[in-house]
Amino acid sequence: INRPHSNAILRPDFKFADMGIGGLDDEFSVIFRRAFASRVFPPGLVEQMGISHVKGLLLYGPPGTGKTLIARQIGKMLNAREPKIINGPEILNKFVGQSEENVRKMFADAEKEYKQKKEDSDLHIIIFDELDAVCKQRGSGAGGGTGVGDSVVNQLLSKLDGVDQLNNILLIGMTNRKDLIDDALLRPGRLEVHVEISLPDENGRIQILNIHTAKIRAVNKLADDVDLNELARLTKNYSGAEISGLVKAALSYAFTRHTKLGDVTGVSGNPNDVMLKRGDLMKALD
Ligand code: ATP
Repeated sequence: INRPHSNAILRPDFKFADMGIGGLDDEFSVIFRRAFASRVFPPGLVEQMGISHVKGLLLYGPPGTGKTLIARQIGKMLNAREPKIINGPEILNKFVGQSEENVRKMFADAEKEYKQKKEDSDLHIIIFDELDAVCKQRGSGAGGGTGVGDSVVNQLLSKLDGVDQLNNILLIGMTNRKDLIDDALLRPGRLEVHVEISLPDENGRIQILNIHTAKIRAVNKLADDVDLNELARLTKNYSGAEISGLVKAALSYAFTRHTKLGDVTGVSGNPNDVMLKRGDLMKALD
């Protein structure tokens, strides 16, 4: 291939504020600056300057904090294809030999599609979720003592080392346990940018609550007694996923008020009167 530097197209209509990611502005800007900025530069210039794109990124932090969300949204922003997702534990369940084959195939497919495509904007993001499952320090018999974990890591390493000419592939590893990730994977040229995605602070929780109640507010179904600032204070240590779950649970309480059990008509009162009230959210918090 004589197109060593692919280029991504930054969608001009895409704004961070519209991405539905709350409380991660700083993290997002680090990720973009370190892992993606070079990809939106003209390929010729990037090549002349001897820049090679970052091939891998590690997002680490507690579950449900928006790691997958951020990876997907960045892909959309850059007009990349829908990311391919591999899951650590799932891959280990496959027959011995099958796991490395899956990893190899994932990269091979991306390479093949790249060769067929004419445009330079063809960025492939491969998300490796729960990477720690295959990584538990090599040689320690991860993968139930079968060595499958070792061979998957080896396959990843050889693929990452081999994508020099294929700058259209970006691997995003995700984990709740960075300490378990094999050092060899974290070196420059591999998963070299490491960004911690932590639990949201109060301000972040306000943003996340705003995002997850936006549709409810848009149709005026959020009662006046709901104070999102108060809720943000009460949800200390909640992840984004837990906040989203809280709003969903509260909504189900709101709907329940309009539902008659054991009656075929099912609905009591006017369903259009349904309102998400402070009481529903408090009940969901319990
Ligand atoms: P895991 O480590 O368990 O895979 P994750 O960090 O990848 O978790 P996501 O899958 O991105 O978490 O989050 C799950 C859902 O929780 C998202 O689809 C979204 O609805 C909500 N969510 C999580 N974090 C945020 C956030 N910062 N802003 C808005 N919504 C969020």
